[in-house]
Amino acid sequence: MKDPDCLFCKIAGKEVDSDVVSESDLVVAFRDTNPAAPTHVLLIPKDHIVSARELKREHGDVVAEIFEMAARIASDEGLDAYRIVTNVGPGAGQSVSHLHLHLLGGRSMSWPPG
Ligand code: 5GP
Ligand code: ZN
Repeated sequence: MKDPDCLFCKIAGKEVDSDVVSESDLVVAFRDTNPAAPTHVLLIPKDHIVSARELKREHGDVVAEIFEMAARIASDEGLDAYRIVTNVGPGAGQSVSHLHLHLLGGRSMSWPPG
């Protein structure tokens, strides 16, 4: 399922260019154009899911795949520590209404996040 007005659906469908790092049947990973860390990769389901709030048990395969791909990319990038973030809703900083994990690494991280 795609949303024709959604930027990340267009990236998944290659209608909009991106720097793709990894891809499977269910998931695409590409570099963030405004990186917040030396490694900043976004991982998205190819299907349009608005946010983590909409995830159901039936999304089990894509959830497993997205975390497996994140771990593989982190390893390929040589990251021994990294952070995975997903913002849910504009109040938490979600600016694109298509579920995405931010994979951030390559610098020290503070806690709690801002
Ligand atoms: P959010 O703020 O929704 O959690 O994260 C959206 C992310 O998408 C931001 O980090 C932003 O820099 C990134 N982004 C927005 N537009 C594009 C784009 O066209 N291409 C890529 N690669 N990243 C984008
Ligand atoms: Zn979408």
